[in-house]
Amino acid sequence: MKKPRELKVKPIKNGTVIDHITANKSLNVLNILGLPSDQSKVTIAMNVQSSHMGNKDIVKIEKRELASSEVDQIALIAPKATINIIRDYEIVEKGKVRLLNEIKGLLKCPNPNCITNTIEPVTGRFYVIATEPVILRCHYCERLMEEAEIESQF
Ligand code: ZN
Repeated sequence: MKKPRELKVKPIKNGTVIDHITANKSLNVLNILGLPSDQSKVTIAMNVQSSHMGNKDIVKIEKRELASSEVDQIALIAPKATINIIRDYEIVEKGKVRLLNEIKGLLKCPNPNCITNTIEPVTGRFYVIATEPVILRCHYCERLMEEAEIESQF
């Protein structure tokens, strides 16, 4: 029996490819990055076979280079993600996401009595206190936030 041919995603000329995203988390990743937008064409491949990690998702973003600080937030839900910056079809920069010590302005505190939920505008601020699995602590009320709560926000 012939092996079915793998469906390859067309290479992009300029932009960013985020590879090794945890399977089925690519839409969450786009939410984190505020994508898609009018300027950037986005291609998603979900549940692609990976030799390293079982199944994975891949996101290609045309005409936009994401700064590593911007993509580090992705580590919250896809800790193995890799970032490739593409210029003229060539990978000019390769990197991995890193979980930062502090997460600002991206998440809401689950505690309804937290100052961030009662007075506007106070943006959320969390410290990463564990990484596998991820646990965050609110800077204001010290409420802990676990993985499922983090994921539900994207
Ligand atoms: Zn709080």
